This record gives sequence, C-alpha cells and structure tokens, in this order.
Amino acid sequence: MYKVECHCKSVKLQVNLPNILDNLVKCNCSICQKRGAIMAIANKDDVNVIEGIDKLSLYQFHTKIAKHYFCSICGIYTHHQMRSNINKFGINTSCISGINLDDIKNVRLSDGINHPLDKK
Ligand SMILES: [Zn+2]
Repeated sequence: MYKVECHCKSVKLQVNLPNILDNLVKCNCSICQKRGAIMAIANKDDVNVIEGIDKLSLYQFHTKIAKHYFCSICGIYTHHQMRSNINKFGINTSCISGINLDDIKNVRLSDGINHPLDKK
C-alpha cells in the first residue's frame, strides 16, 4: 500500500501498487506532455481517496472519457482514470510517499498522441 498526497496534503489516497517499478509510464498525449508526470498504473479497485475528495477538481477534454483529477487548492495532479481502460488509474509517482526517484529506471512510453481510440 502506498500513500499518495498532493502538495498541500488536502488530498490523500491509498493505492495498492504491486510491482510498482514495473508499471511506470510516460505519455506523449496533449495533456501528459504538458503535465510531465511519470505515472504508476493501478487497478481501479485498488485506488481509494481517503481524504479531501471534496477538494479534488475534475478536468476533462476531447472525448471526455478520461477523468483527470487535481487538487483544487495546490493544483497538483494526483491521479486520473484512463481513457484506454477505464478500469485503470494513472497515479502521479511524484506524489507517492516511499518511492525514491532514483529507483525509477524502466519507464514505458505510451504513444497517447496516436491513441487507438482516435483512429478512424
Ligand atoms: Zn493540495
């Protein structure tokens, strides 16, 4: 179990992330490119907001399938429900307590700019 916190600590999540270091992703879609976060991928049922659910803001765009959450006070992206699989969440690794940035080595690139759901 990992604890996930925004900067001002208003929003707290508890996330079960087995094999976290093998499930790290960067993405080149329009929002990820600007956000710049390395994400850990979690199953929906393993993600629990334990504090500050009323402080979370939701941002949606384009097909409005993905749900991008960020703290309405400090503005930090904490997690999002993925468009490619709504049963998965991306978790901002920079918000996870107990993960050392030096341990982050294998990061997969997701080609979100060529999202399969955008192919005609
Ligand atoms: Zn915050």
